[in-house]
Amino acid sequence: MADTQRRDRWLTFLILPALVVGVLVLTGVTFRSSFQLEKLREQSVVEATLLLVGEKADRLDKRIVEQDSALMSTLDVADRRRTSEEWLKAAAIQTPTVRALLVVDLAAPGRDVVTFASRGTSGREDEAFRRLLIGPMFSDLRLDQQPVTELKHLHKSYGAESYLVSYWQRQAESHRYLVVAWHDVGRIVHDLFPTLADRSDAPQSRVNVVDEEGRIVFGPPLSRGGLTIGRQFATTLYKWTLNVSMTSSEELSRAVQRRRVLEMTMVGLSSTVVLAGMVVVLVALARERKLANLKADFVANVSHELKTPLSLVRMFGELLQSRRVESDEKRQQYLSIIVTESERLAALIENVLDFAKVERGRQSYDFVDGDVGDVVSRAVEACRLRAERERKALELAIAPELPVVRLDERAIEIAVINLVDNAIKYAPDGDKVAISVIRREGGVEVRVTDEGPGIAAEDKKRIFERFERGKAALGRQIRGSGIGLALVKHIAEAHGGRAWVEPGPERGSTFVFSLRDARKRRPTAD
Ligand code: ADP
Repeated sequence: MADTQRRDRWLTFLILPALVVGVLVLTGVTFRSSFQLEKLREQSVVEATLLLVGEKADRLDKRIVEQDSALMSTLDVADRRRTSEEWLKAAAIQTPTVRALLVVDLAAPGRDVVTFASRGTSGREDEAFRRLLIGPMFSDLRLDQQPVTELKHLHKSYGAESYLVSYWQRQAESHRYLVVAWHDVGRIVHDLFPTLADRSDAPQSRVNVVDEEGRIVFGPPLSRGGLTIGRQFATTLYKWTLNVSMTSSEELSRAVQRRRVLEMTMVGLSSTVVLAGMVVVLVALARERKLANLKADFVANVSHELKTPLSLVRMFGELLQSRRVESDEKRQQYLSIIVTESERLAALIENVLDFAKVERGRQSYDFVDGDVGDVVSRAVEACRLRAERERKALELAIAPELPVVRLDERAIEIAVINLVDNAIKYAPDGDKVAISVIRREGGVEVRVTDEGPGIAAEDKKRIFERFERGKAALGRQIRGSGIGLALVKHIAEAHGGRAWVEPGPERGSTFVFSLRDARKRRPTAD
């Protein structure tokens, strides 16, 4: 017992709180790791996109610079006429986006364009560019005083037109020259930009290029929902921005969202299961504890129940043995006390033994087709002596033409004796106990009505459970073991009926058990 209590205490005060803490920690950790994982995923998408946009922009820069280098290596300013003609021949292959090559004599006061090799077909456009170069564009070129052979780029819009020029300075025959490669921006957009959209390196990416005003120059508009990262071209078309959007990022964030909901649901569910399990354990524990207490009370009650009649039998037996009782009347009275008390003892022991059999599932009934009126009358007669001693009249009413009932006579007698015994015991102020057997749809009902205090509403169901004792018994300290009604219920159910209690009109109560008509139920084997 002490061990069980210690185990219960361990379970309640240590293991259960530890479980609750464990569940809370688990939920917290899962929440955190889920959020962290999402951040990591986002970060990795951002990093991958950054890397991709950088690579693509650099690749384009490189393709333009490669053309410039090829041009630089072909052109000799000292022999510019010949070398520029040679360039023109190979230009379509070597420098496909360079439209024209210009050499400006920087020493000449009018910034003379001394060479103009153009692949264009419109002389008017070439002339317009020449004027633009030596006019407004010139100041934008930021030329060094000392000739530096370093390659430079200018990317700017003049009017509605965007221009890209590569330029560098050369010294020849004590003259400073400016060599300019005029790139055809339209051709770059048309021929080179599609290579930016090449999806072989990142199938789930989309690309566009926007100008300094945010207008799309190339590619589709990119949705704002997804992850879009932009980077300007570092060297050549530096006014423009290349944008790369990972279409997968939208899908990814949706998948992450779904995953998180799933994870949270799983955690929620498992926590609920653990908590429900704990509640079940606690309830079972409370029930077990209650049952253990009830059993302990039962043992004490039964011992008490046995002790009282036993001491009466012994006391009056000893008195008779001592021969000090002179009057015959007294002797007779003592003898009748001994008889009734030993009857009570026998009834109690029988009750306990029957109950023990029921508890172990060993109770067996001998069903025979019987007259329930006869059986009930016999049981009432057995109680009559005790009722008289308690000054209570037993009124028996048996309805005529009752149906034949398959019953175990001894069991029905025990049930009736228990009910009548309770009616006498719990109604000390009542004058009579009415017992009736009546016909009912599908069988018969045995009813025992007393004039006692009645049953508290909350006790109505409970008192039919084993070891349960009601307020009436506990409050007035009436002796009992709490198994009588449980036995009645078991007997009624074994006969295909049930047992219940009905409150009296003003006070008192009627305990009822029903039995099924033999023709309406198949007899059970036991
Ligand atoms: P016991 O009488 O030994 O306590 P029972 O199982 O016969 O056990 O009864 C269970 C409880 O039902 C009793 O403790 C009592 O509170 C209540 N009870 C039974 N019969 C009556 C009755 N006739 N009037 C009032 N209360 C009753």
